[in-house]
Amino acid sequence: YEIYGAPILGRNDKLRGIVLVFHDITELKNLEQVRKDFVANVSHELKTPVTSLKGFAETLLGGAMKDEKASAQFLEIIWKESDRLQHLIHDLLELSKIEQQHFHLNRQVINLSHIAKETTELLQPKAEEKNIALQIDTKNTVHIIGDNARLKQILINLINNAIVYTPEGGVVKLEISKQANEAVLTVQDTGIGIPESELPRIFERFYRVNKDRSRNSGGTGLGLAIVKHLTEAHDGVIQLESEEGEGTTFILTFPIYVETKD
Ligand code: ADP
Repeated sequence: YEIYGAPILGRNDKLRGIVLVFHDITELKNLEQVRKDFVANVSHELKTPVTSLKGFAETLLGGAMKDEKASAQFLEIIWKESDRLQHLIHDLLELSKIEQQHFHLNRQVINLSHIAKETTELLQPKAEEKNIALQIDTKNTVHIIGDNARLKQILINLINNAIVYTPEGGVVKLEISKQANEAVLTVQDTGIGIPESELPRIFERFYRVNKDRSRNSGGTGLGLAIVKHLTEAHDGVIQLESEEGEGTTFILTFPIYVETKD
């Protein structure tokens, strides 16, 4: 608590009482802590790849360049780390844009099946690399009001995760359906799943179940935070069900758009 006090004076400046104002600043303090943690996390996440880039470049300059095999190996690492750094900077800028109060969505009528098809086509090669069957069920035509590019971004992040966290030979399935007044979009995988104890924190910025595994797969730990923000910006809700070793299902619901004729 922050406490402010002020005297109440009567005639002849005689003290008649005191006003005390107790200001509950728990919420403010929490926000301040979240902000501090975020800055610390960002610094750490940026420092790690830069340190590694510098180290490998120095090693090459220090003589390793003469060894062709070592050079190829180090350059590969340098490329991978700079690629991750680029993703990280991109995701950070995205997140800060999306979190702005005046973040603007380019709203139009969207056929969810179209977006789902386009996104699966985009990620098909990545799925094939791991021999993962990327399936899509778009029997239903469902429209919502939304931002084409942002909705695609949601799907790309979710499908990309599903592919990354599913072992070779698995299945990633997309489904679009209607339920009462809601459009329901599910992304289901047969992957490693998420332990129940980790579920409450999964949408936090930089939160990962396994940092090393996420890093090695090019992850930034910001993907789901972006997905949650964008879903909520569309008046949607995101939920998930997961079973370790069995798979994970993300379920997104949006208000459905029904054409009205005047
Ligand atoms: P990352 O860039 O690390 O994938 P995300 O914010 O996209 O960051 O996801 C946060 C964490 O949630 C991941 O590090 C991973 O541990 C877990 N996760 C996300 N999607 C899945 C999934 N489909 N299956 C299993 N774990 C997942």
